[in-house]
Amino acid sequence: MKLNAYPVSRRRFIGQLSAAGALALLPRSSWAAEPSEKRLGVALVGLGNYSRGELGPALKKTQHCRLAGVVTGSHDKGVKWAKEYGFSEKNIYSYDTMQQLADNPEIDIVYVVTPNGLHAEHCVAAAKAGKHVICEKPMANTVADCDTIIAACQAAKVRLSVGYRLHFDPYHKEMMRLAQSDQFGPFMKMRGSFSFPMNRRPWRAIRKYSGGGPLMDVGIYVVHEACMAAGGAAPVAVTAQEILPKKRPDIFQDVEETIAWQMEFANGAVCDGRSSYQEGGNDFHAESERGWVDFSSAYIYRGLAATTSRGPLSFKPEVCQQALQMDDFSECLQTGRASPVPGELGRRDMTIIEAIYASAAAGGKRVEVKA
Ligand code: NAD
Repeated sequence: MKLNAYPVSRRRFIGQLSAAGALALLPRSSWAAEPSEKRLGVALVGLGNYSRGELGPALKKTQHCRLAGVVTGSHDKGVKWAKEYGFSEKNIYSYDTMQQLADNPEIDIVYVVTPNGLHAEHCVAAAKAGKHVICEKPMANTVADCDTIIAACQAAKVRLSVGYRLHFDPYHKEMMRLAQSDQFGPFMKMRGSFSFPMNRRPWRAIRKYSGGGPLMDVGIYVVHEACMAAGGAAPVAVTAQEILPKKRPDIFQDVEETIAWQMEFANGAVCDGRSSYQEGGNDFHAESERGWVDFSSAYIYRGLAATTSRGPLSFKPEVCQQALQMDDFSECLQTGRASPVPGELGRRDMTIIEAIYASAAAGGKRVEVKA
């Protein structure tokens, strides 16, 4: 991968910042050795939009793992996937037959991509079948469910990771590095939003399946990003306000439609966040007295746009975040290295989200985060 983070006049600057830091920006797969001799087998659980649009295609680009099976409610859909991805039809499972994964040595990793409220059930089933687990964000509807998943993985002696793809994106890695550098960080003032208009009532608007509204779905990115910009720290306290009245109470009957929140970190840093199903938003800004970083397109899969007080960021060629994420977990399993996105990180974010909801429910009262 060609490193082209700043315009030419800034090259010297990045060199001064840290050569080691720049190396860390390279995707693992570009500096790791050749593709693994044995590519680990991944089974996707849930063949909806994210699996179809992103994870499946990413598994055509991975070097250390490959798609080896699926768990789906539709056998016919599974057959189409088996043909497209070249795995045996015996590797098609239904949600009710997940325990049979235990007898399939071709599958090493089970990647749970179902509605949030089903993550715990499917992760536990995968762990009981003796498979390593990747769980999509948010990890579960509640912290208690996160604990159930973590305990099941520990009991089965399998590894657990969360689908936090931004940790493998060069723009966000650079932001994390700048947060730690004395030329920029520590960032003391942050703000971000992730919102999109949603005019249907799929599972995302039904609490049992979603655990909440836009905060659970996309606001979690702002929560997570703020912790990344705070050097990996969790906030010590939050305040929050649900924005009322709802514009579409018919759709958002039992989840919030729009929510704003504030995160307060131990060093005095603060972050203002906002997430909505009635407006647009995809940004993040972090600043200190020394410098700032600004994402005008922060959480998208491709085509991110970011500028710093020292010049624009540009990483070419574009990476596939999901391929890097799954390859990294595969390498972790093969080498014993710790994942940068373990289950504990998913649990931490749920402690913050629960505190945000508790504050909103208590009229904006300051709520301490027990991460
Ligand atoms: P989706 O609705 O498109 O797909 C969900 C899948 O789960 C479908 O195949 C559906 O058939 C299946 N399913 C199984 N049991 C179900 C039930 N009882 N009710 C409804 N569906 C059921 O959703 P999606 O957009 O693919 O999201 C799936 C998960 O992936 C969510 O947890 C979401 O937060 C996460 N996600 C992550 C990212 C990311 O960038 N990391 C992006 C999109 C979605």
